[in-house]
Amino acid sequence: MGCFFVSKNEKKLERFHLLAQHEHVFACPLCSKPMKAIPNTSFVCSSGHCFDFAKHGYVNLLTRPPKTKYDTSLFAARQHMNASGFFEPLISRISQGIHQNMPPHLEPLRLLDAGCGEGSHLVSIQQNILERTKIAPLGVGLDISKEGIKIAAKRSSNTIWCVADLARCPVMDRSFSVILNLLSPSNYDEFHRILADDGIVIKVIPESHYLQELREALHQHTLRDTYSNKRIQELFKRHFSLIGMERVTYSILLQKEELHSLARMTPLSWGTSDALLQRWTNQEQAEVTVDFSILYGKKG
Ligand SMILES: [Zn+2]
Repeated sequence: MGCFFVSKNEKKLERFHLLAQHEHVFACPLCSKPMKAIPNTSFVCSSGHCFDFAKHGYVNLLTRPPKTKYDTSLFAARQHMNASGFFEPLISRISQGIHQNMPPHLEPLRLLDAGCGEGSHLVSIQQNILERTKIAPLGVGLDISKEGIKIAAKRSSNTIWCVADLARCPVMDRSFSVILNLLSPSNYDEFHRILADDGIVIKVIPESHYLQELREALHQHTLRDTYSNKRIQELFKRHFSLIGMERVTYSILLQKEELHSLARMTPLSWGTSDALLQRWTNQEQAEVTVDFSILYGKKG
């Protein structure tokens, strides 16, 4: 028991040091003024707006209570799928894309994951970049869900985790060289404000064959098969100049437990019948198609 508290406190201390070291990157979500870390308790702006540094090792920068429909079990399912290697080829492509598109002199390398959820993607990308470049990038993960951030803050990584609203990103103008926005809603005005002038924004969107087996099993052709993300692409291009786009498609063999987590983490299973869901999760294993597009943008 005592040991548990010691390790928890150490983790909190480690997280706090990281936040204090990079406090200049942050801006008050209410008044945009600089922030100061007050040892182990809070994060305060120069006008006195005060935000809690939680015992789990994250900062809560929300200015009003969130309306979120995600719960802990959804993030646990996502974490399980990440650990199973489901997203690995995608993560590897993104890391390579960052490496290829970054100006060589760009340091410090700071990545912001807008809508990071339980944080697996950001941490994997940070590790991947460290292996490729020998530079340890700083990661900042933002999500409006406290449940996701709580899980994220349990990891050991060079990452600051914040509960925050994307409509008021609590960071300084032009402070990030890379903005990641993976399978998550965007706020392009804010992305524009916080991206460094030579930085890149990377958005991942699902393509038409993504989880087609699950879609067929749960909806039996009642959903339109002609999914199109054209509108999302157009919106992206209105805010950033598209410097590259690549499609990543692969299939992966999933075992029973993973099939269960997959169904749990996607909205495809919401509102479907229990019988269909059970038939899906009763399979011993199944092949599933993963199909994404990665959009790379720069300031125009
Ligand atoms: Zn303030």
